[in-house]
This record gives sequence, structure tokens and C-alpha cells, in this order.
Amino acid sequence: MMPPPHKPLVYIISAPSGSGKSTLVSELLKMVPDLDFSISYTTRPPRRSEQNGKQYFFVSRAEFQQMTRDDEFLEYAEVFGHLYGTARRFLREAEQKGHDLLLDIDVQGARQVKQRLPDAISIFILPPDRKTLEWRLRKRSEDTEEVIQRRLVTATREIENYDKYNYILVNDQLQDSIQSLQAIVRSERLCRPGRTFSEEESKVLELAESCRLANIRDRVQPILASFAAPAVSGGTQ
Ligand code: 5GP
Repeated sequence: MMPPPHKPLVYIISAPSGSGKSTLVSELLKMVPDLDFSISYTTRPPRRSEQNGKQYFFVSRAEFQQMTRDDEFLEYAEVFGHLYGTARRFLREAEQKGHDLLLDIDVQGARQVKQRLPDAISIFILPPDRKTLEWRLRKRSEDTEEVIQRRLVTATREIENYDKYNYILVNDQLQDSIQSLQAIVRSERLCRPGRTFSEEESKVLELAESCRLANIRDRVQPILASFAAPAVSGGTQ
């Protein structure tokens, strides 16, 4: 008898820009086997360090629109004036390879994927507070002052959606965040029925559990407050 087809676990990661998500995602992919990254399509022009087919597939608006007409996207959205979309084929490929799939998408995309794939596991990465986010955005020196201010406004709006996610990760100390993220991914894999857990696995489950929405609300409140009252943060450090 044929074994049942592999049903990939789909992990969604969202975060305001500047919260350190790219570093976390690349570290996670190095450490976790059989986890594929869904390379999105975008109409945004590539940054100097980016290569077509690595971080993104860079396409024209016309090409992107043709793909939407051909129903090639699991989800798509407009972010900062550019279109971004997740191709369905990554899910099919993960299924064929027996892998799981990681999506790095914004809150609009996350909402669409959750509607289509309710079992998808969503993780929201929060900066420790608004001042730190502002400082990180300035430090990377990629954007003009106007763009930084726009990113901060968008961040405030995105952060309000944190409670639609299954897990919240406060990216304060990079190494701790990487460990927690890895724990979340592993714990969801471990939680398949009929398993008993080793001591090490139980610790992984415990760490992941501490990031569950219901268990982290108290930690999130002061972060939200720092975004609600930006006047007190200000400075450039
Ligand atoms: P950036 O242009 O800085 O790489 O990404 C901007 C935003 O677009 C980020 O929040 C990123 O998560 C989001 N994004 C990247 N790919 C996709 C996608 O395929 N779909 C959606 N909805 N958002 C995406």
C-alpha cells in the first residue's frame, strides 16, 4: 500500500522591517533540516546585495499580473508600493520532497495563507521596543529619513496584528531568539500524534510553549505601549 502523501507543515514568519527577521530566518534554515524557504516573487527592484532567485524572483508588474491571472499564487499583497507573492509551486515541491515550508511574508499575506491553510503555524517577531527598532533601521543605513519614518508607521500598524499569530518572539538577544525559533519549529514537528518525548525534547517543547500567544501577552504589553506613545522615544542613539 502507498504511504499517505506528506503534508508539509507551513510556517509563516512576519515582522516589521528592521526587527532582525532576515538574520533569524537564515540562521533557522541553516539549523533545521528539511525545511524549504519559499522564495517570493516581487516587483520591487533588487537591492545591491540581492540575486534573482535567491532572496526573491524579481519580475515586472506585467509578469506578476500574468501570474495572478494564472492563479499561480497562494497569496499576494502590495507592500510599500510593490507587489509580493508566494508561488503555490513551493508548497507542491515541499510535499513531493517530504519537506516543510517557511514563508517570510507580511501580515496581509499571513491572513490569506491562514484562510487557505488553517493549520499553518504563524510566528510574529517583535522588536524589544520602538526605540530599538528605530535605531536598527538607522544603523543599517539603507533608507532615507522619510522611508524610516514610513517604516515606523507601518511597523506600528503591523504590530497591532500580533494577536492573530500562534507564537510571538521578542527579538532582544539574537542567540536566544534563534533558539526559541528553532524550538517552535521542532516542537510543531514533535507534536505529531503518538509520540513520547526525551528529556531534551521536553525542554524544546517547554521553550516553544513559552512563546505561545497566550503565554506571552504580559511581555508584549510594554512593547505595544512603546509604539502607542512614540513621542517619548524620539532620539537617534
Ligand atoms: P523587503 O522588500 O524588505 O524584502 O520585504 C518587505 C515586506 O514584504 C516584508 O514584510 C516581507 O515579509 C514581505 N514579503 C516578502 N515576500 C512576500 C510575499 O510573498 N507575500 C507577502 N504578502 N509579503 C511578502
